[in-house]
Amino acid sequence: MIDLRSDTVTKPTVEMRQAAFEAEVGDDVYGEDPTVTRLEEEAAKVLGKEAALFVTSGTQGNQIAVLTHTRPGNEIILEENSHIFYYESGAVAALAGVQTRTLPGVKGAMDPEVVEEAVRAEDQHFPETGLICVENTHNRAGGAILSPENMEAIYSVACRNQVPVHVDGARLFNAAAGIGRDVKEFTKHCDTVQVCLSKGLGAPVGSIIAGDRKFIQRARKWRKRLGGGLRQVGMIAAPGLVALTTMRERLIEDHEKAAVLKEALQNSKGISVINDVDTNIVVADVQGTGLSSKEYVELLKEKGILIGGFGAETVRFTTHYDVSMEDIRKTAIILKSL
Ligand SMILES: *Cc1c(COP(=O)(O)O)cnc(C)c1O
Repeated sequence: MIDLRSDTVTKPTVEMRQAAFEAEVGDDVYGEDPTVTRLEEEAAKVLGKEAALFVTSGTQGNQIAVLTHTRPGNEIILEENSHIFYYESGAVAALAGVQTRTLPGVKGAMDPEVVEEAVRAEDQHFPETGLICVENTHNRAGGAILSPENMEAIYSVACRNQVPVHVDGARLFNAAAGIGRDVKEFTKHCDTVQVCLSKGLGAPVGSIIAGDRKFIQRARKWRKRLGGGLRQVGMIAAPGLVALTTMRERLIEDHEKAAVLKEALQNSKGISVINDVDTNIVVADVQGTGLSSKEYVELLKEKGILIGGFGAETVRFTTHYDVSMEDIRKTAIILKSL
């Protein structure tokens, strides 16, 4: 099977398994796991922030960020198709007790002027705007890259209004690879950021949140409250460190694979690619084939290719480390033959 459902299906490399086996560990709730400490220090450095915290998942990282930045009754501003709004089981309502103010995006990017209008003035009728969230790359917009300029403009609105900005950067390293710039070109325009180690970077488990020292100290307490304080967690931080330090450069290969898929899909009857394919995600409308997305997913499955449904008429192909260019070429031939 060629598995293009998600970049989360990557399995840990031999080097990662070796690193887990050899990891020096201790009780991380006591602050005694040297491997976790090394991962957090390295992540803070890479992301250009004072401190970082290792968390179990991207969702947990985002939720800890929302919990740490806000108080119940606050309003948070975020794009209407953002992961935090769309895919986190209503956690911001269930856990942080905040209400969401969703704004439309163009390829995932909110208009800074519209963001500014959405920030609440001081009035006893109004909730306080507690946080602005930005997602880069934007998942539902098909891995779209938000420009550093858009992030800068939103951050400037936020600073002017004294509202913090959190970046859901589950695939922020894909954005950096996509524009060929350092990830700090993005992270300098936010207060806090979450990055996934377990997607394109290939680690088996884990995410990082980064921000200033005080934020991370408070975030650590929220992680504990949520049951995310773990013990000899160097066992999974070690592969995370391999992911963070050795797998970022190769993300561009995943983008090249996605470009080949895009081309193949554009030459397939009844299929149209509906995103720009900035990074490792291709979203295709299959309506012209006469099949529903569900039926198309099933058809490809019979041919040995796994993809994800992404709506009634759209499907998603995601490239990653565990599918080779050869797999992609095979896929391309099958797609064109349908
Ligand atoms: C995958 C993803 C997350 C959540 O990460 P998990 O580790 O699956 O919880 C958050 N935001 C975006 C944009 C994602 O793509």
